[in-house]
Amino acid sequence: MIKIKNSTELEKMKKAGAILARVLKLLADAVKPGIKTSELDALAERAIITAGGRPAFKGYRGFPASLCVSINDEVVHGIPGPRVLKEGDIVSLDLGVVFDGYYSDAAITVPVGNVAPLAQKLLFVCREALMAGIKNAWPGKHLNDVSFAIQQEAEKNGFSVVRDFVGHGIGKVLHEEPQVPNFVVPDNGVILEEGMTLAIEPMVNTGTHLVKVQPDGWTVVTQDGGLSAHFEHTVAITANGPKILTEFK
Ligand code: MG
Repeated sequence: MIKIKNSTELEKMKKAGAILARVLKLLADAVKPGIKTSELDALAERAIITAGGRPAFKGYRGFPASLCVSINDEVVHGIPGPRVLKEGDIVSLDLGVVFDGYYSDAAITVPVGNVAPLAQKLLFVCREALMAGIKNAWPGKHLNDVSFAIQQEAEKNGFSVVRDFVGHGIGKVLHEEPQVPNFVVPDNGVILEEGMTLAIEPMVNTGTHLVKVQPDGWTVVTQDGGLSAHFEHTVAITANGPKILTEFK
């Protein structure tokens, strides 16, 4: 069942989202050649706790960190550790925050120093795909309108969207119904309604859409070694259209 949020709940999600956006901005500014991914994780955890929140991912199904850090061909769920970011890498930072019992979830992919033109294009297109999807998140629209807009933006630019991982409803728990695919699912009958809250999160690859999970049980990588980017916002569907709850200020 899809849970509709009232205005009190939306206010709490907005606060969770504001903390998250602030911390993601802090992390994006901290990304530079030479920084360890574990340092980014520690920064995220400290900043969330200082803001009165709790890291949503730490301990979730046993995930060992507060931040997912996925580099180059890593798609999602990379575990922070001793790996050092290098000039030319692209790095996806995926973060969740709980505040007053409500969740927010967002991700960005950022360049480390100067990156190749293909990587630059991938980041641009993935973010555009997310925004194209969000633009369709109006009451009365079909969930497939969101999915189609994302898929079209990625594919018209020669990229592919990951199928095995999708967006989701979000609220009192991290993953609620409905699933939010980044590609059209013919039998998806969900009609968007005011009060729905969705984590919309395209994962876009330069090559094949196929992915595999590494032996650590978490890190998802592209099967062909191509680059992957990930952008995500938590979005509330309101009478006035989509409201991004995790927007950078
Ligand atoms: Mg998510």
